[in-house]
Amino acid sequence: MSPSDHVQAFRGVLGGAGVVDDPQRLASYATDQRQLFTGSTLAVLKPATTKHVAEVVRLAARLGVGLVPQGGNTSYCGGATPDDSGRQIIVSLERMDTIREVDPLSMSISVDAGAILKNVQDAAAAAGLLLPLSLGAEGSCRIGGNIGTNAGGLSVVRYGMTRDLILGIEAILPDGTIISDMRKLRKNNTGYDVKQCFVGSEGTLGIVTGAVLRLAPLPTRRATAWLTLAKDAALAELLALVRRESGELLTTFEFITAQSIALAAGAMATPPSVGSGPGGAVLLEFASSSRHLDLDSLMESVISEAVESGWVEDAYLAQSLAQRASMWELRETIPEGEKRSGGSVKHDISVPLSSIQRFLDVAGEQVRNYRADLELSVYGHVGDGNLHYNILVPHGTDRIEFTRLIEGSLSLRLYDTAAALGGTFSAEHGVGRFKRHLLEKYGDAGCIAAMRRIKAAFDPADIMNAGAVVRPFEPESIR
Ligand SMILES: Cc1cc2nc3c(=O)[nH]c(=O)nc-3n(C[C@H](O)[C@H](O)[C@H](O)COP(=O)(O)OP(=O)(O)OC[C@H]3O[C@@H](n4cnc5c(N)ncnc54)[C@H](O)[C@@H]3O)c2cc1C
Repeated sequence: MSPSDHVQAFRGVLGGAGVVDDPQRLASYATDQRQLFTGSTLAVLKPATTKHVAEVVRLAARLGVGLVPQGGNTSYCGGATPDDSGRQIIVSLERMDTIREVDPLSMSISVDAGAILKNVQDAAAAAGLLLPLSLGAEGSCRIGGNIGTNAGGLSVVRYGMTRDLILGIEAILPDGTIISDMRKLRKNNTGYDVKQCFVGSEGTLGIVTGAVLRLAPLPTRRATAWLTLAKDAALAELLALVRRESGELLTTFEFITAQSIALAAGAMATPPSVGSGPGGAVLLEFASSSRHLDLDSLMESVISEAVESGWVEDAYLAQSLAQRASMWELRETIPEGEKRSGGSVKHDISVPLSSIQRFLDVAGEQVRNYRADLELSVYGHVGDGNLHYNILVPHGTDRIEFTRLIEGSLSLRLYDTAAALGGTFSAEHGVGRFKRHLLEKYGDAGCIAAMRRIKAAFDPADIMNAGAVVRPFEPESIR
């Protein structure tokens, strides 16, 4: 069968509305979000139901056509982008975006995997509940993609990663078998936790079509503060102080350096009312659904202790929703600020909290030794030990060439440093196609062997997102 016969066969399953093969419309689906790589796809398949997805997978398995599941295509590691073989087809879940049910008493929400994260948050909020997953791409990323990458984001410090929010799953295995486990149970110790296999698997084990997510009480009160840091402020110790005093009320502890603040401020329509101290700044937030807690006075006490410690120079407590929004906008505009400055080479590092300062010191020296004129944009979810350690593309330099150069040299030194401190090269962005060699270099050999066996057990014909995350099964390598 020729490639065009394949497309015709999928059209037979999905109808005309379910298959896009106009080359002009394919380009944006076949290019990764950072526009580092454009792959090749015969078509984009857009199933509208779980049954459609199962039929598409069965047909692909029969024809020997590879599939690449795609949500919002906002991920950073090329996992949603087909390779350039021309033998893979993108399956976009964008037509499957129904909120199936909100259950306020079970505190859960059941959704199609193509639902946009923001829409799921809004549906939960309309029922007085919180979906505690929030990230800069929430207006375009989709739940299936969040599950695929085990997305983290801005409230991990309190609620955990996507993995911690999954109660049930519906997914299609690479032979077309439907897993239908959309239960809302917190407790269910009945054998292997199959749903968790899909979390962080980046489309390599099957296609997620639905999920049940855990909700939390919707915070009705928040105290938000912007702390400007003294030079050499001890970040981990400051976090420990805040955690000790605020306990479960802490929802955000975001560290931002002066350079990142300047980049974000430059991209904002209205200049921010807060800025940086010599050691950067921290966006701090407490939240609660209780009407009986006085978060502002707790925040004031925590801040005065932090100022006494000498790590914090100044603190601004948001006095209105507008002030809070402006502080958050400053944090969330950093990626846009980096983009406007010409882009950055991103490093999604995670190290144990006790080693954050050591990482910053050693990595800073490595960058200076590599090339003294390089500029950094460093910020991150420090409450989770996660730093976005980004190197700005120098003005007048080709972004893609610079990215390749840095990723083949300086990046490896930074990853070596993270690894030596017990950290990882990918905290929340996954592995995809771009970081597979890093998993091979830095991953535990036993874990990689286990991943290959899992991949082989789920997908012996390597239909699902071949080339992403792990190399195919090689029997002799695991004997
Ligand atoms: C401005 C910005 C800010 C961001 N901030 C954060 C952040 O704070 N934290 C964070 O973790 N990430 C962040 N990201 C990265 C990205 O938004 C997340 O990785 C997100 O979870 C990807 O969702 P998506 O729908 O776009 O997935 P896609 O990019 O479409 O896919 C991601 C992976 O999941 C697989 N996949 C997609 N759908 C399915 C499915 N239905 N079944 C099985 N596999 C599937 C794909 O094959 C691919 O491997 C950010 C990105 C941007 C652009």
